[in-house]
Amino acid sequence: MNTFDHPDTDHELVQWRHDPATGLNAFIAIHDRSLGPAIGGCRILPYSSREAALQDVLRLSRGMTFKCAIAGIPYGGGKAVIIAEPSRDKTTALLHAMGRFVDDLNGKYITSFDSGTTLADVRTIGEVTPHVGGIADGFDNASQSTAEGVFTCMAAGWRHLTGADLAGASVAIQGMGQVGRRLAALLYQAGARLILSDVDPLACDGIDGEIVAPERIHNADVDIFAPCALGGVLSRETIPEISARLICGGANNQLAATGDAERIRDRGILYCPDYLANAGGIIELHYQRGGGDRAALHRHLASLADTLQHVIDEAQESGATTAAVADAIAMRRIGAARL
Ligand code: NAD
Repeated sequence: MNTFDHPDTDHELVQWRHDPATGLNAFIAIHDRSLGPAIGGCRILPYSSREAALQDVLRLSRGMTFKCAIAGIPYGGGKAVIIAEPSRDKTTALLHAMGRFVDDLNGKYITSFDSGTTLADVRTIGEVTPHVGGIADGFDNASQSTAEGVFTCMAAGWRHLTGADLAGASVAIQGMGQVGRRLAALLYQAGARLILSDVDPLACDGIDGEIVAPERIHNADVDIFAPCALGGVLSRETIPEISARLICGGANNQLAATGDAERIRDRGILYCPDYLANAGGIIELHYQRGGGDRAALHRHLASLADTLQHVIDEAQESGATTAAVADAIAMRRIGAARL
C-alpha cells in the first residue's frame, strides 16, 4: 500500500492511495475546514485516467465547501473518489480499504454515499471507521431531503416570479434517478404538470408525466427546468434553447463554464444556484449526526426558501448573477469563521 500527498494550492489536503491487495485506487480531497470537519460522499466511477479522477475530486470537494457554507451547517468541503467499475469491482475488501484511508485522516474527513455507492456500502465502510455519515438508524436515503430542498427552492423561485404556487406549473425534469423521481412525486402532489426524461427508458416508469427524448428535455416548452442528472448541462449551446423562466434542480455543477450564469441572467431566466437547491441531503446528514431531530431538519430544509430569496434580492440590487451572489455569501461565512 502506498499513500502520497498531491500538492494543490486551492485545497488543504489531497491524498492518493494505491492498495494492490484490494485493488483500491482512490483520492480523498479536503478543500476547506474553516466551518468544521470536511464532509462529502465517496464516488466510485471507472474514470478514464487518474488525472480525470483528480479533477473530479478537486471540483466536487470545493463545491462541498460552498454547499455547507450556504446551507449554514458546521462542516467544510471534502470528497473521495475510487477509480473502479462499481458493478464489477466493489468488494467488501475494497470498501474496508477505503474505510481505513478515511480513518487515517482522524476525523478531518467524513464520508458518505455518492454516485456508485449505496447506503449499504457506507455501512460497510463504517465497519472500519466511525467517520461516516448518512446511516443513522431510522433514516432512509438522504435523497428524499435533497428532493425536498429542490422542491422548496423551486416553489420559492416560482413564487418570486409569479406570486403563485406550483399547482398548474409545468416542470421538465432531466434524470429520473434518486433525486429526480422523488422530486417528481412532490411536484405531482403539488399539482404541477411533469415532462420527464432519462437515458434509461425504464427510469420514468410509474411516474405520471409526458416523456421526451433526452436531447429534447432542456428545450421543452415549460415554465421550469429541473436538471437532476449530470453536471454541465447549462452551457453556451443549451442556454439559448431554454424556454423555462426558472432553472432549479438537484444536479451538481450545472453550469458548464464561466459566463454561463451571466448568459442565463441575460436571457431573463432565474437560476437557483445548484449547491443551494441540492443542499437538502447534506443538511440531513448534519441532523443525523447530531441525534436525528426531524422537526429541526424540516425547519432547516424550509429555510432554503429564505436563503434563495435573500440571494435573489442581493442579485437584483447588485446586478450580479445569483450564482455569484451565492458564492459571495458562502465566502463571507467561511471568511468570518477564519477570524
Ligand atoms: P442517480 O444516478 O440516481 O440518477 C441520475 C439519473 O439521470 C439516472 O436515472 C440516469 O439514467 C439519468 N441520466 C444520466 N444522463 C442523462 C441524460 N443525459 N439525460 C437524462 N437523464 C440522464 O443520481 P441522483 O442521486 O439522483 O443524483 C442526480 C444528480 O444530483 C447528480 O448530479 C448528483 O451529484 C446530484 N446530487 C444528488 C444528491 C442525492 O441526495 N442523491 C445530493 C446532491 C446532489
